[in-house]
Amino acid sequence: MLSRHVPGLAVLGAGRAPAPAEKTPAEASPGRADMDTAQWLNWRWQLRHMMTTADELARFVHLSDDERAGLAGSSHLFRVGVTPYYASLMDPDRDSCPVRMQAIPRMAEAEVRAEELADPLGEDSHRPVPTIVHKYPDRVLLLVVDRCGIYCRHCNRRRLVGGDDPPTHAELDAGLEYIRRTPRIRDVLISGGDPLLLSTARLDELLTRLRAIAHVETIRFGTRLPVVCPMRIDDELCAMLRRHHPVFVNTHFNHAKELTEQSSAACQRLVDAGIPVGNQAVLLRGVNSSVRSLRALMRGLLRTRVRPYYLFQGDTVLGTDHLRVPVETAMELWQGMRGWMTGMAVPQLVLDAPGGGGKVPIMPSYIVEHTAERLLVRTYRGAVVEYPQPRLRDCTVPYDDVYFAGHPADDDREGSAEAGLF
Ligand code: SF4
Repeated sequence: MLSRHVPGLAVLGAGRAPAPAEKTPAEASPGRADMDTAQWLNWRWQLRHMMTTADELARFVHLSDDERAGLAGSSHLFRVGVTPYYASLMDPDRDSCPVRMQAIPRMAEAEVRAEELADPLGEDSHRPVPTIVHKYPDRVLLLVVDRCGIYCRHCNRRRLVGGDDPPTHAELDAGLEYIRRTPRIRDVLISGGDPLLLSTARLDELLTRLRAIAHVETIRFGTRLPVVCPMRIDDELCAMLRRHHPVFVNTHFNHAKELTEQSSAACQRLVDAGIPVGNQAVLLRGVNSSVRSLRALMRGLLRTRVRPYYLFQGDTVLGTDHLRVPVETAMELWQGMRGWMTGMAVPQLVLDAPGGGGKVPIMPSYIVEHTAERLLVRTYRGAVVEYPQPRLRDCTVPYDDVYFAGHPADDDREGSAEAGLF
């Protein structure tokens, strides 16, 4: 159970945007004993004390009727779990708090619509072994764990996570063996669940085995722990990861409220270890579906040296209709960033095609007219400008024959095992 004095309970009034130098609620918590500080900063303590019930959450926030009904009526459909750290970011008085909306189910989650799917991305039809999802020609997902540091109400992999069916050693071995005997795999995205829940020693062993496979060029992690349990990103983990470069991390901030001193420091520890960190946000109705909220998130990420990478349209996963944003609204929101902020701050707006077709950009077109002679384009301010086309049309690169002489052709579009599926 939670300790008597939980840092972060002093969050009354935490709903407003913090001033840049303001301490996070956990840090500002008065009278914290040394023992509590040590516990609070211990990632294993955070995970052991995840809150899963209405009674536990009610110690942090005043639960609304909708949240109470959601916890009673829909939590059996998908597990609830929140670290004390992440709960400390919640506005105790307003259930519109973006942290609460991501972590605490509402009654609407029990309303499953006909078009909603348990496996909206069609991953299960691309699993040659239980721990591998192989949808794209040159890269795979390696599913190493089935637990998370939070159970996000919008999760598209809710059928696989929750801690009920962890991958066995034999299944992990089979996944590594699949990668080893499939030479076209250049990139492995280690995911789950949250892979950084594994001990540093186990991750080191896993990376060592992957690095022994010559055709694996890049390794990525998909993790939400920098957001929900930033104390996991410790020096030992960073030192281990840097031994296996090139390693990349993609994390999942959805609101500027999540960018605390601690989560920013966690990301910067990774960056300082030479690990590029990207962010994959999900557009969520009422959570971040305003231009102001998205701009604050993307700018905050850049200040923290995290590159906004994707902004996902919500997937058609069971019980999430209330969190999805109409596509035309998504495009309007994206246009509220494009051009108005540095391009580095503007993520790609994509949807994952239901059934396993992969990511599809849904950015609005800025082309008004397109002929062989000219383009008419609309600028971010709405002006229409002409761009003359070049006269010469042959774009062959003559030096390719020299530079790539003796190398096999590199066109995954033809003949790959996955090409005929879509
Ligand atoms: S951390 Fe990722 S895998 Fe886990 S519940 Fe959230 S979205 Fe799903």
